Amino acid sequence: MTKRGQATIEDILARMRESGKSEAECALVQSAYAYALEMHEGQRRVSGEPYITHCLEVAYLLADLGLPQINGGVIAAALLHDVLEDCEDKGATLETLTERFGAQVATWVNGVTKLKEIDRQSGLIVDHKVPVRDDHPLGGHRRDLQEQESLRKLLIAMADDPRVIYIKLADRLHNMRTLSNMKPEQQHRTAQETLDIFAPLANRIGIWVWKAELEDLAFRYLEPEKFYSIVEQLDARREEREARVLRYKQKLEALLRQEGFQRFEVQARAKHIYSIYRKMERKQVTLDKIHDREALRVLIDSDNENDCYIVLGLVHHIWRPVPGEFDDYIVNKKPNGYQSLHTAVFGDDGETIEIQIRTYNMHEVAEKGVAAHWKYKEDGITLDDSMVTWINWMRESAAELKDESSAVFVDSIRQELLSDSVIVFTPDGKVIELPNGATPIDFAYRIHTELGHTCRGAIVSNREHREGVMVPLNYKLQTGDIVRIIRGRQGPSRDWLVEELGYVKTPRARQKIKQWFRKLDREENIAMGRAALERSLKQLRLEFPVATILTLLSERGERYQSEEDFFEALGVGELSLGHVVHLIEQYLKKQEEERERQALEQTVIEAPHPSKPVAIDIMQSGDLLSRRARCCNPLPGQPIRGYITRGRGVSIHAADCKTLQRLEQEEPERIVEVTWGKVDRLPVQLVILVRDRSNMLYDITGVFVNEKISINGISTGKRDRYNIVPIYVGFEIGDLAQLTRLMEKLEAVRDVIKVERVG
Ligand code: MN
Repeated sequence: MTKRGQATIEDILARMRESGKSEAECALVQSAYAYALEMHEGQRRVSGEPYITHCLEVAYLLADLGLPQINGGVIAAALLHDVLEDCEDKGATLETLTERFGAQVATWVNGVTKLKEIDRQSGLIVDHKVPVRDDHPLGGHRRDLQEQESLRKLLIAMADDPRVIYIKLADRLHNMRTLSNMKPEQQHRTAQETLDIFAPLANRIGIWVWKAELEDLAFRYLEPEKFYSIVEQLDARREEREARVLRYKQKLEALLRQEGFQRFEVQARAKHIYSIYRKMERKQVTLDKIHDREALRVLIDSDNENDCYIVLGLVHHIWRPVPGEFDDYIVNKKPNGYQSLHTAVFGDDGETIEIQIRTYNMHEVAEKGVAAHWKYKEDGITLDDSMVTWINWMRESAAELKDESSAVFVDSIRQELLSDSVIVFTPDGKVIELPNGATPIDFAYRIHTELGHTCRGAIVSNREHREGVMVPLNYKLQTGDIVRIIRGRQGPSRDWLVEELGYVKTPRARQKIKQWFRKLDREENIAMGRAALERSLKQLRLEFPVATILTLLSERGERYQSEEDFFEALGVGELSLGHVVHLIEQYLKKQEEERERQALEQTVIEAPHPSKPVAIDIMQSGDLLSRRARCCNPLPGQPIRGYITRGRGVSIHAADCKTLQRLEQEEPERIVEVTWGKVDRLPVQLVILVRDRSNMLYDITGVFVNEKISINGISTGKRDRYNIVPIYVGFEIGDLAQLTRLMEKLEAVRDVIKVERVG
């Protein structure tokens, strides 16, 4: 809606000209308007208004964005978005539209119409024309399926041309604005779908203003009590708060002028209601504890992002920063392109206030996603690489998961869309976006299925580790990580499918791994199982009849009908090789003891038994006669391989160790696959940065006690003027997983700012 109320065609044309659209584009829009007016003649919305008002509003929303990628054709398609569906009797067909407005506009209209057919089938239609039947047959389950189908269509349409989604979002936004005319049950359903799908979608393509409005509207219908309670609380002290914000704004403006800034703007910004609510829920606090409820926003007319940091320095000079509330989204750009500095400071009245600092360019992106996902080329405007990658991924997923159940498909997509994501890079700089919590395995599968199957390790370089550091395969990738996958020769591990181990986050990677195992047919499994056993017996320099193994197993109640069945079980990983080797070892040991006993009884001195097998921990826990190789000194949690030394057991190398690679070339038969079994405990020192308070040390040491880790030493460092103190703790730990868990728990302690490993 315009500031004056109902949008007119003149308003639309005016906005188009303001944002530099050509007269040819305006003419196209004008003729689309004339046609839509004729077609919708006599039709009314539920509210009683002429139907064309809806078309005008949708077109105005798009024109008002003033985005380059939203050209006259898109705005024309917005005006026409309902004619195919409603006005066929008057001659509105795809052919007529193509003839009158060109193939592109017709395709867009058709795209939006197709999306709507799904809405209508699913009872989700909110076009304010069709009365919703009270006896709508869609029960919970069927409706779920329909929603999934709706989502599927939406994503396919998006892959075809994302501009269809802009029209669909504008359509949804206007329908949400006028939702009060609908029946309560339908209001609820539409609001829920808006919150689940359309608001995240608006966020994903970067139109923040729409996202915020969609969320607030949906929230109002879904949780009216909570919504109005926040609104009332905000209203209660509005004048007082507005006066306060104004004081800060003036002080900040004066400061910036004094420091020589000429072109800037300080805006007061109010956080939208739904995001206040989310934060209250997340932090379990009341409204007055939300620091960034109101904020000041400094916009600088500069192309130099360093200016933002200069302003930050000035702000922190006059007001003391609230520790832990600083976010640098300039360096850590959000996936939708958002860039800004966020800080919170203690104001002159002792209360906190949030301040955001960004350039005008960053602001444009933040509000409307202007440049976020589009780039300019000589032959027009195209999507940028990260968006192309993302859409291709969606398209691929849609194709590949086609035969999977609808649930798997939708879960996969929904997760992509709804969860926050991390942006990581391939070594050659390709941008890969993954859901939060994704691992190197997810990364590998995202790039190529084969890379996923053969992924054995990963080296991550980032700001902390510029040289790169080996990470466990269940490491959670962080935005900015450059990930190099180390490949092996084997296929995926069964462990990857064990959810608790956290190897895989994305449903698609999970799907791929399952497929891999399904594909191995019986013959292959048998061959694999046989080869694996032979290899490990050879490495152990043992000869052992398979029949005896079967006997040993059946003594334990693990029966196999045939040697084939046994090998197959080994091959698919139902039966672990480590388990079998362990049985063999026990058997040999018992035989040995028996022999010694007999020898004693008979008091016959025998020659010493030939060299005993080396007990090796093969893909299983157990004792490991081993030591860490000094060349690469691998840490628990890191992928490793073993080398059978002559007479000194097995030396354990990092899977990618150069020395090991040389050894493998020379003596491949001495290489064994190993995982971490029992290991020596590792000395670790942590520095825990805390805001000091009473019982702080008690809380910190409590975490160690709960984790059953004994502390070797603890000391505190120098306190700064904000009462922030580093606490140094030395202790020993079993593996990286335990350390990670410990650090997470420490970070969760109140007033702990940061936990880091030293040295
Ligand atoms: Mn519509």
